[in-house]
Amino acid sequence: MKQLSVPLFVIVFFLNTLAMKAQPPAHEVTEVWEPVPEVVTPGVGTAPPSDAKVLFDGTSMDGWLDRNGDPAGCTLEDCVMTVVPGTGDIHTSRGFGDIQLHLEWRTPGVVVGECQGRGNSGVFLMNRYEVQILDSYENPTYPNGQAASVYKQHIPLVNASRGPGEWQTYDIIFTAPRFNEDGRVAIPARVTVIHNGVLVQNNVEIWGETEFIGLPSYKEHSMREPIRLQDHNDLVSFRNIWVREL
Ligand code: MG
Repeated sequence: MKQLSVPLFVIVFFLNTLAMKAQPPAHEVTEVWEPVPEVVTPGVGTAPPSDAKVLFDGTSMDGWLDRNGDPAGCTLEDCVMTVVPGTGDIHTSRGFGDIQLHLEWRTPGVVVGECQGRGNSGVFLMNRYEVQILDSYENPTYPNGQAASVYKQHIPLVNASRGPGEWQTYDIIFTAPRFNEDGRVAIPARVTVIHNGVLVQNNVEIWGETEFIGLPSYKEHSMREPIRLQDHNDLVSFRNIWVREL
């Protein structure tokens, strides 16, 4: 009778497999213990989380400047700042790069105007990339210019607008652009926008500086630039603005 010869490596492989079945890899192998995330206490209600930098809490306009670099001229009433039409945009005295930004805004309860002339403002990230603020409740306009659009670049996924006179929230996650040494953009900026708790911009690429006329393009700037709020001649109000630097 002929004897079957089995190569040694087949026997070793077979025994190894048996051993592995008997002793599966320890769960510790896939556990990562470092780094330990910093503890952040979440805000209660609309309060900011513990590591946020408060940009406006309703008590003062400190940290906000007008276009001339003077203290901002918004009216401050009932913990709310309201654009004084015609006085120009205001901006933070400090610069920011990659951020999570929370702000609450309200367009006038009495509707005046239509299209882009109804409750228009805007938050300019790094002083140049606008997320549109507009009363877009039953107010047709070009969709890449309605509320929560990246102005003239990205139409919001849905229209999550509340009605005129109601407070609305933006939660914005912004990644600043990176530039090459020659000044050309290396990595474009990206933005995610949550409007009243609804995702409306999902990590979209920003094409360049916001332009009213013509196509956007990048121009080199520093890694930290102010956050600017637009005066578009409408009585738009703001409250509870805070930022987390990422
Ligand atoms: Mg605007």
